[in-house]
This record gives sequence, C-alpha cells and structure tokens, in this order.
Amino acid sequence: MGMPDIDGLREQVRGEIVTAADEGYDDARTVYNAMIDRRPLLVARCRSAADVMACVRFAAGYGLDVAVRGGGHSVPGFGTCDDGVVIDLSGMRGVRVDPDAMTARAEGGATWGDFNHATHAFGLATTGGIISTTGVGGLTLGGGIGYLARGHGLSLDNLVSADVVTADGQSVVTSEREHADLFWAIRGGGGNFGVVTSLEFALHPLDLIYGGPMFFELEHAGDVLRWYRDTIGESPRAFGGFPAFQIAPPLPFIPEDRHGEPFLAFVACWAGPVDEGENALKTLRDVAPVVAEHVGPMPYPALNAAFDGLVPAGLQHYWKANFAKELTDEAIVAHLEHGPKLPVVNSTVHIYPIDGACHDVASDATAFGHRDANFATVIAGMWPDPTDNDANVRWVREYSDAVTPHSEAGGYINFMAEDDQVRVRANYGANYDRLSAVKGAYDPGNLFHLNQNIEPA
Ligand SMILES: Cc1cc2nc3c(=O)[nH]c(=O)nc-3n(C[C@H](O)[C@H](O)[C@H](O)COP(=O)(O)OP(=O)(O)OC[C@H]3O[C@@H](n4cnc5c(N)ncnc54)[C@H](O)[C@@H]3O)c2cc1C
Repeated sequence: MGMPDIDGLREQVRGEIVTAADEGYDDARTVYNAMIDRRPLLVARCRSAADVMACVRFAAGYGLDVAVRGGGHSVPGFGTCDDGVVIDLSGMRGVRVDPDAMTARAEGGATWGDFNHATHAFGLATTGGIISTTGVGGLTLGGGIGYLARGHGLSLDNLVSADVVTADGQSVVTSEREHADLFWAIRGGGGNFGVVTSLEFALHPLDLIYGGPMFFELEHAGDVLRWYRDTIGESPRAFGGFPAFQIAPPLPFIPEDRHGEPFLAFVACWAGPVDEGENALKTLRDVAPVVAEHVGPMPYPALNAAFDGLVPAGLQHYWKANFAKELTDEAIVAHLEHGPKLPVVNSTVHIYPIDGACHDVASDATAFGHRDANFATVIAGMWPDPTDNDANVRWVREYSDAVTPHSEAGGYINFMAEDDQVRVRANYGANYDRLSAVKGAYDPGNLFHLNQNIEPA
C-alpha cells in the first residue's frame, strides 16, 4: 500500500484537497456539532461524481477510513474522522427542477434551503426537514421527517432515483428499475451503501403554507399534548404540525417579560388551501389561550428557515430519540416532568407525527422499517458553552430514560447520538437482515462504516 499519494490524488480531482499542512485545515475539518474534534488525513472538497469516485478508490486502495459529509449536521459527527478521508460534498449543491415532470434533482451536498429555494420558484415542494441548513442527502438516506410528511410521506418516499458511488469506486444509477436492491437499501439505510452524488425527488404543488409557532403556558402543556395525541390521526393530511418544549427566544412577537421562560409550543404547518388554514387551527385554539404566536400565511421555505437562528453551527449537541405507536398518558406525564426543565434556548423536544402518507408505504417496501410508529420524538440537547456539557447531557439522558419505557425499541437513525450504537439493529427494525445482505453485495469490506453501521452479511 505504501504512504498515501496525496499529490497523486490532487492530480485526479478538481476540488481542493486540504491536509494538516494546508491553510484552512481547521476550518475544513470542523463539523456542525462542536463536541466533535477529529483530525482527518485529508478533506476532499469534491466538485463532481468523478472527484468522489477518485476519492473512494484512493481511500479503499490505501485502507483508509472514509467519512462522507453533506450538510454536516450528523450529531455523532459522521461527516469527519481521524486519519481518514473526508469526502466533503458541501460544494456540490446544485438543484435542477423539471416543472413538467414535477421532479427536482439535487446534488449530494445540497441543503434543504438550497432545495426549497429552487423548487419554490416553480410552486413545488417535497418533504424535507424543519431546518434549512440540514443536508438533503443525510436526511433523506435515513428517512426524512418534516412538515409535509403526513401529506407526502418521508423524504425517502419521494426519492425517484439516485446516483451512488459504491465502494469499488464505480458510479451507478439506482431507481425502482436499476439496481433496485440498492435503491431499496439507500431509502432508510443511511450512508452505508456509498456516496450519493445526486438525488431525484418527486415534487408536489405548494406555495404558501398557513402556520408558524404558537406558545402555550406550561400549565396547559398536558391539554395540548392530549389534544395532539387524540386528534392528529384524524386530521387532514395537509396538517403537519408538532408540539415542542421550547424556551421563548427574544423575538418581537413574544412579550419581552416572557423571554427566556419555558413554554409548550406548537409549530403548525397547514399545507392545504391557505384560506382553510385558520379553520384547521381552530380546535387547537379552543384547547388553551395562546400567549404568543407568529402564525399566518407564509412561503413554505420561510417556515423551513424560521428556526435556523436557534441552531447555528458550532453548538454542542447531544440527542436521544424514540419512535412510539402511541403517546400514552404515562409518556405525557414523563414529558410534563422533563420538558419544562429545558436548560437553554437552543435545546428543544419535538414530537413529530409520522402517520398519514408515511403509513401508505409497507414496512418492507423501503429500508425504513418503522411504518407502524405514529410519533417520532427527539430530545435535542444543543447548547453554546462546553463547560455546561455535563448538565445538558444529564438533562437529555434523564428525559430519555423517562420516555423510553413508553416507546418502541428502535429510534430514528438520523437522531441517534454516538453512544446509541448498541441500538443500531433495533433502529433498522425488521429490515436489518436484508440491509445486511445488500451491504454484503455492495460494500463487503465495510468501507462505509462511519455511520449507523450495518454489518455486511
Ligand atoms: C439542527 C438539525 C435539525 C434536524 N432536523 C431534522 C428534521 O427536521 N428531520 C429529519 O428527518 N432529520 C433532521 N435532522 C437529523 C438529520 O437528518 C441528520 O443529522 C442527517 O444525518 C443530516 O444530514 P447532513 O447531510 O446534514 O449531515 P452530514 O453530517 O453531512 O451527514 C451525515 C451522514 O449521512 C450520510 N450522508 C450524508 N450525505 C450523504 C450523501 N450524499 N451520500 C451518502 N451518505 C451521505 C453519511 O453517512 C454522513 O456521515 C436534523 C439535524 C440537525 C442537527
């Protein structure tokens, strides 16, 4: 094998190769979660599938670890590594919309902000995440939970095809017709199967949504959670809101003397006819008085970016997550005990609905195996000061310990922290063995192992 010939790699790729000897190395190795501090051999800022192919062959040839980075949001920091090759796709963010076919093709490093900006111009959208800086690639390959999921399924349910650079350095087109086994596996199997350089999505007509955040007093949190539990399954699929424990940020629509206090928020997104939006929220308004709100018609990308300011790059992150079939009374008691103890304004707890169109797809039709769950809970610890690590991690763990007994064994792979690797099999659910077989076919040496890793059969 010999010493990795980095200059030889530089000759093969058009993107920049950044090593510890280069200016900008610290910037290049930095990921979103500030708790992650790794020193790769090199960061390859790829510009094309050809660059990615060269990097994969290089890493495989020298027996180096490969980390793949799109939006960089992985909480366990899968987008970087020690001593290996980081394939950084953040320079590959183009999005091409075909309005006649109602599809869009995004490069592997595009963010949801890039995607929504491009598609909104055509009055079209698909299910993406709730923050605009998250990567389309990482979010989709693991699932894709967002405002539009009840209406249009998970992000991966809207994937039509994808170009994948596999462990042998070849690029293949995957769809229901080509490499169908690989196409099945990348829809829920995360980054296990290769580097996805482009993703083609089905789009749906959407311009304005009606919604935004509403803040309720904590004394009404139980009523709002029970209202959500009891009504969401019967709500029209255009209704895609979720409850959240949230400290009030210093925003003009919240009374100044309430800034910094914890609330039960409900973030509403009505994606049906805008003039029906007010009515869609009526029963929620009947539950309890709203202390503060920023609700009304707005472009869908505006809601997608509305909370970006709360989660800038460079915070410390520690998350826990579970799927649940039911939001039981016992689970609500646990939420009511721990949610109000939010340590900082950046942290939050969301209970997403994943019913509706997410349930139209069979559990074995894609690799996402939790189609029987109705809720996906994430306890997202995010805080600016590393000296507060112990207190914030403790809050997340104690909260998680309280709700886990009322949840499924598995959780959403995209919300899992590094110390949750013991749950990997449960997280993939009944699809694990089939995933392992596909992994064995496309990546028998487990080159792509810096992820929620599936062992090759
Ligand atoms: C602030 C924040 C908000 C979030 N909101 C949501 C949400 O609303 N809904 C939701 O479902 N999830 C959400 N997530 C979780 C998110 O889906 C995961 O963190 C996901 O891994 C992020 O993808 P990324 O490309 O930004 O991250 P990266 O760190 O770049 O990638 C994470 C891993 O995904 C894989 N990967 C990424 N891109 C590719 C690619 N092109 N080809 C192959 N593998 C790839 C790799 O294994 C990579 O290591 C959120 C995360 C954060 C931090």
